[in-house]
Parts: sequence; structure tokens; C-alpha cells
Amino acid sequence: MSAQIIDGQAIAMEIRLALKQEVEALKQKGIFPGLAVIMVGDNPASQLYVKMKEKAAQEIGLHSVVRLKPTGTTQEELMREIEEMNEDPRIHGYMVQLPLAEPLREREILEAIRPVKDVDCFHPYNVGRLLIGETGFKPCTPLGCITLLERTGVPIEGKKAVVVGRSNIVGKPMAILLMHRNATVAICHSKTRDLAAELRQADIVVAAVGIPRFITGEMLKPGAVVIDVGINRLPDGKVVGDVDFVSASQVAGWITPVPRGVGPMTITMLLKNTVEAAKNQCKI
Ligand code: NAD
Repeated sequence: MSAQIIDGQAIAMEIRLALKQEVEALKQKGIFPGLAVIMVGDNPASQLYVKMKEKAAQEIGLHSVVRLKPTGTTQEELMREIEEMNEDPRIHGYMVQLPLAEPLREREILEAIRPVKDVDCFHPYNVGRLLIGETGFKPCTPLGCITLLERTGVPIEGKKAVVVGRSNIVGKPMAILLMHRNATVAICHSKTRDLAAELRQADIVVAAVGIPRFITGEMLKPGAVVIDVGINRLPDGKVVGDVDFVSASQVAGWITPVPRGVGPMTITMLLKNTVEAAKNQCKI
């Protein structure tokens, strides 16, 4: 069997076009949605992500602000920046690019973000609402994965889903979103005894591990929908996912590539959350 490709890049561009039209319509009503990204230090990967977010925000017409803070920025300085963002009426949503290097206290920073502006959905208030199934922001990467799953047209309800990885930003919220769509969900992690046995029962697999080509075709159930969140750079510079695309695509029914899979969807969901934030704050 040869899997159908879930083209995350194309789907992301389609959603961004619709968002651009929505932003234009909001501007007609005098609402100019604004997104800010705060970054500390000069981590090259973070710099690249921030640039990509800025470009995407500008392309759909958002008011886009990037605050680059030097290495050595103190907790107090960063907290002041957060306070400014909380109070700035032109900024409807903002995020702090992670990871923050020691001695900055990441948790304290994330908890200072006003929940209505927390478009990354990392504040415990929003995480709690997500858990109990209330409306509100959904974290960008899992929301992007769910959107890709829905685009296949394969029903989620009643399916066995296995999420590999239990991080706060991907694995855990992903499992919750799948459960809310009535999948039967297992979360596997580094202490799972027999991952292959779990995966072979899965109609839906979401891989968020951070190990290149970790999940191979022989571990999958024929016809499974495979969403690969992993972004792993090999020594030769090539970027690959957590799934071995060559063998997995022989067994799966649907599969996301890396790159051009989940990655572009994550940024798109950040834009979507920002437009939502603007509408909420302007009571549209
Ligand atoms: P993380 O390091 O926080 O979590 C990795 C998880 O994998 C852990 O929960 C761990 O228990 C699990 N794990 C480790 N070894 C395992 C094993 N042998 N068997 C089963 N599970 C194992 O990583 P993360 O932040 O969740 O990111 C995961 C991957 O997704 C990374 O490659 C990251 O770069 C990528 N990522 C991509 C996007 C995107 O937009 N596409 C966004 C976030 C993260």
C-alpha cells in the first residue's frame, strides 16, 4: 500500500488565505489584529522560528511586533515586557519564544501572560479550560495536527489513537483534543514497555518524540493515519521527522511529510488564535 500524503503546506496556505480575508474584513470595521513575539538571546533555531512567524503574520495583514531581548535579560526586565504587552491595546495576542535559558524562570513568565492574549495556550488557565473541554485557545501544534486529521475525512470518533510523547506542548494536549473528538487514546512515552504493540493497534498515530525516523512501517497498522510532529536535523543538515517516511508510507493510509507537514500548520494556528483573540477582545 502507498499512503496518501497530507500536504500540510498546502492546507496551511489555504487557511492563511481565508485568515487574510478575515483580517481585511476586520480592518473594515476598524479592528487591526496584532501579534507580538518576544525572544530572548540568539538561539539560531529560535531566531528562524521568530522570523517565520513575523513573515506569516505580515502576509495575512496582522500588526506584527517582534521584541528581541539580548542574552542576559533579567527576569524583572522580561516581566516588565510582559506587563507592557498585557496592557498594549494594539497587541491582541503574544507569545514568548521558548526555550528560555537559565536563570530565567519560564513558568513564572508564562503565568504572567494575560490569558486572553495567550495565543500559544501555555497559561495554566487556558490549559485547564482545554482539559475540561471549554471554549478558548488550543495549543498551536496539536490544533494543527487535529486540523490535518480532519482534512483527511477519516472519522476520529471511535478510533484507537496512539500519541507518542507526553510533553506539555504537544503530547498531552494532543491526547486531550483526540479524546474530546471521541477517539480512544493511549499516550506512550519513554517508559512505555512495548511501543510497537501499542502502535500496531492504532488507527491514528501522532509522533512527537524528537528521535529521527524512530517509528518504522513495521510498527504500524495497515491503513493508519500518521501525523509526524518531529523536526530533527541530521548531521548532514537534512530535516526529518520522528517517523521513517519511506517504510511508513508503504503501510499507512495517510501520512504527513517532514518538512511541509505539521510545521506550517503550527504557525497557521498561531495566526488563527490571534485573529480569535482580536475578535474576542473587540467583542465581534
Ligand atoms: P519533548 O522532548 O518535550 O518530549 C519528547 C517526548 O518523547 C517525551 O514525552 C518522552 O517521554 C518521549 N520519548 C522519548 N523517548 C521515547 C521512546 N524511546 N519511546 C517513546 N517515547 C519517547 O519534545 P516535544 O517538545 O514534545 O517535541 C517532540 C518533537 O516534535 C521534536 O522533534 C520537536 O522538534 C518537534 N516539534 C515540532 C513542532 C512543529 O511545529 N512541527 C512543534 C513542537 C515540537
